[in-house]
Amino acid sequence: MKTPIEVFAPAKINLTLHVTGLRSDGYHLLDSLVGFADVGDRVILEPASKLSLRVTGPMAEGVPEDARNLCWRAAQAFGATVAITLEKHLPAAAGIGGGSSDAAAVLRGLQQMYDAPVPFDPMDLGADLPVCMLARAARMSGVGEQVAPADLPPLHAVLANPRVAVPTSAVFKALPGKNNPPMAALPAFSSARDSLRWLQDQRNDLEAPAISLQPVIEELLKQLSFLEGQWLTRMSGSGATCFALFETAGQAELGARDLRANNPDWWIEHCELT
Ligand code: ATP
Repeated sequence: MKTPIEVFAPAKINLTLHVTGLRSDGYHLLDSLVGFADVGDRVILEPASKLSLRVTGPMAEGVPEDARNLCWRAAQAFGATVAITLEKHLPAAAGIGGGSSDAAAVLRGLQQMYDAPVPFDPMDLGADLPVCMLARAARMSGVGEQVAPADLPPLHAVLANPRVAVPTSAVFKALPGKNNPPMAALPAFSSARDSLRWLQDQRNDLEAPAISLQPVIEELLKQLSFLEGQWLTRMSGSGATCFALFETAGQAELGARDLRANNPDWWIEHCELT
């Protein structure tokens, strides 16, 4: 086996998010179409005599380097002694699954390093783990344990975060109705345009409660809606990252450039979603 092992941890984007119920144990039932971006974090694993974690990269500030980090917990639960380097490119607490995607990347890397399956249910580390283990477009439901791969034509996006952290639990608390209807059946999309049209009619139930906590999200969605060529704008997860979708990579690239010009302090990327 060649070491170190490098694994990409893509941003997880909730293209739709319906909150369909609340279980008696406090977990929310969700129905969400998820896509993965070609922007993300990078995880590097090296065999070592004990478990360690170092966080580097442009978004490292404030990210814990101990058992509070999901990467650490993933390696510990695997029973691995590895030196982990986490290169953070995604903002934390941003609704794009940073911690879950990183932990899934650690588990994929350890599977490869030890040539062994994950010896526990990834769901134990969080509701987004199963879909992040798949790391390709999927419909997730239940409390996150049901994951069905979805055929989604590649879409182009601008991702933007106004650099405010939104705690997921506060957003769920601020959501008035927890029993919203599930998503319509996923059609077989014949083109990117076809899927964009369908997505326009969907929603993220957490958008309004997140805006009530962080009004800057409304401003961000407004600015995304002004970008030329965008088909729809929406928030991902519990925010504050929002996205605009485009048919072509060129439109997304120009959109990101225009948004950056007006908001130099925001985190803004253009990407392909698959
Ligand atoms: P989502 O709602 O899309 O699942 P999230 O918004 O909960 O993602 P995370 O980036 O997972 O966002 O961060 C949530 C909290 O978890 C952060 O405040 C951070 O302290 C902690 N955390 C644990 N592990 C990580 C990690 N690998 N990267 C970033 N934050 C992490």
